[in-house]
Parts: sequence; structure tokens; C-alpha cells
Amino acid sequence: MSKQMPVLGIIGGGQLGLMLCEAAKKIKIKTVILSDEKNAPAQNSCDKFIYSKYNDFDTVKKFSDLVDLVTFEFENIPFKVLNKIAKSKKVLPNPKINQIVQNRKTEKSFINNIGIKTTPWALVKSKEDIKKNKELLPGILKTCTLGYDGKGQHVIRDIKDVKDDWRFSDEYILEKKVDLKKEISVIVTRFSNGDCSIYEPIENFHEEQILRNSKIPANINKKIYIQSHNNAKIIAQELNYIGTMCVEYFINEKDELLVNEIAPRVHNSGHLTINAFNVSQFENHIRAICNLDKIDLNKNSNAEMKNIIGSDIKKYRLKSFKINEFFFDYLKKQIKDKRKMGHLTILQD
Ligand code: ADP
Ligand code: MG
Repeated sequence: MSKQMPVLGIIGGGQLGLMLCEAAKKIKIKTVILSDEKNAPAQNSCDKFIYSKYNDFDTVKKFSDLVDLVTFEFENIPFKVLNKIAKSKKVLPNPKINQIVQNRKTEKSFINNIGIKTTPWALVKSKEDIKKNKELLPGILKTCTLGYDGKGQHVIRDIKDVKDDWRFSDEYILEKKVDLKKEISVIVTRFSNGDCSIYEPIENFHEEQILRNSKIPANINKKIYIQSHNNAKIIAQELNYIGTMCVEYFINEKDELLVNEIAPRVHNSGHLTINAFNVSQFENHIRAICNLDKIDLNKNSNAEMKNIIGSDIKKYRLKSFKINEFFFDYLKKQIKDKRKMGHLTILQD
């Protein structure tokens, strides 16, 4: 007998929402998107699109009445909103996880408390605090909340870089600048029975703090491969996580593996899983949260993914592609500098 398929609500209508809807369609799950952006990319692929501010509780209620369960495509949704929805509908991953991960201080404390290394860091509220943590210089001052693609970050080479009139209006952490040998990420999907489906580590290349390229296989040694998998599984387990998440790592010059951050959602570096694996990170997320079967992962091919940023999209829109090249246009109405507009995945033999 076939299972009754649930209707899935997704908060956020960006490219991650769009790709979640496409994966849902493939396994015949209907989707409703709630987005605070009128022209959100996901409206082209969902079954129903609701445009609303996230704190408009009447519309949020209408949205949650339409669906059987709710997930999200970005982690910075106000906790109050998720909590409210969770009173009547299942929200996965659990909103409590967002509360930890939304803030760099609680996120890094959580990771350190379970015995996993991060970049050395300290909470700072003033120039004095930075002086007290001189061993973290040269460092990066990061706002505790709401940073993405390098936004809310400031390099401090020397205490002289800290001006006396800085107001420290937000909470910040100061993080030691790592001599990066490499950046990798591990995408793991955890199912409600605790089983994990884990993709091989992905190697990532950033420019100006924005992800430019990702590739598999990552050029790393076996020890790092295993450690990055083990840590990701431990983190997912400790969070009692259900769905797909990503652990971003730094590898420093001493070949130490450090967690940079966790994304409690599908992740940009995992876009290549759409073409390179039998089950993508998006389908896996939906399978896990909808309590569908876990399918063993099979890699079809090695791959490289290039993000298409800003006005570069114009030339891609005119290009023709080879049989092993897969172009994704997020159909964003407005082209903005440093904005992710699409991606290209190239499969290798
Ligand atoms: P975001 O939330 O914007 O993704 P990240 O903390 O992941 O912020 O930083 C984005 C990128 O900036 C990282 O992937 C890395 O390339 C660089 N970066 C961030 N923190 C450090 C650090 N402490 N040392 C070296 N590079 C860093
Ligand atoms: Mg990051």
C-alpha cells in the first residue's frame, strides 16, 4: 500500500527553497513556500507560494494550516516564528537547533563542549576585551548573529586597527585568523531512527569570503576524511538532528581539522550532489523529515560546481552546454554584485 504523502511547508524562497521543491516534486511531495520576498526564486517550482513577512502571524498561521510539516531553507528565521508554528505542526529540524546555531557564540561553545575543535575564539564586547585576547590577532571580528557570505566580518591585524570610537553595538566574537591550507565541508542527513546518510567530504574554494567552487573528491588525507565524517556524525547526533545539515571545516597548515561553522540546512557546497549522486542533499533532507526510507548513496561521478555570481549570469544564459554540464539559473529578477545567481555542475569521468 502506498504511503499518504505529506504536504511540506518550506520557510524561505531562495535557491535552496527552489531546489528543495524540485527534489520534492521528484518524489511526489507537494510544497508550500512562505517567503518574505515577492520575487523569490522558489515560486517557480513550488505548488503554492505565500508572500508574507515572517512576523505576520496571521499569514504564518494560514501557511501552517495548509501543510503537514514545516522545514526551512535558511537558519535566521526568528525563533519566535518557528516556535509558534511548532505548537501546531512538526518543524524539522527542531527550532531549538536554530537557536544554538543562529549565534556564533552558542554555536562554537556547543561544538567545543562536545570535544570538537574550532578556530580559537573569544566573546568580545569592547576594545579592552580585544586587548585581553591579543593572542587571537591577527583575527576576524564577526557579529554573533545574522552573518552570511562574509557579511558582518572585519579583519583585525593589530590592536591599532580597533578605533577608539567603535561602539560594539552588537555582540561579537573575535576569531583567530587561520592559515588555511584547505576548506572542506561534510553534508550529512540524519533520519529519525538515528541512521545517517553521509556524502564524501567536498573541497571548497572561497574568494572574498564567498564560496566560488566546490569539488569532489576533496584532495585530503584519509585521517582527515575519517575525522571530518566522524565529527559531522557526532554533531548531528548530539543535536538530535533530523534532516540534512552541513559542517564547514578549515584545515590549517599543521593539518589540523577545525570546525568553522554548522549550517542546519542544505548547503551551497552540496549542490553537486544533485548530479553526482543517486540521491541529492535536497531529496535526502525531504526523505529524512518526511520519514521516508533511507536510500544507500551511490556516486555517479566526480564533479565540480561553480557558483555564478552577479552579472556573470548574463553570459551563462546565452551559453550552450556540454552533455556533462548542468546549468542552474535561480531566475532571480535582479542582478546584484556578489549575489549568487546560479551554478554550473560539471561531471567528470
Ligand atoms: P559566513 O557565515 O559568512 O559563511 P564564515 O565564518 O564561514 O562566514 O566565513 C566565510 C569565509 O571566510 C570562510 O569560508 C573562510 O574562507 C573565511 N574565514 C572566515 N573565518 C576565518 C578565519 N578565522 N580564518 C581564516 N579564514 C576565515
Ligand atoms: Mg560559512
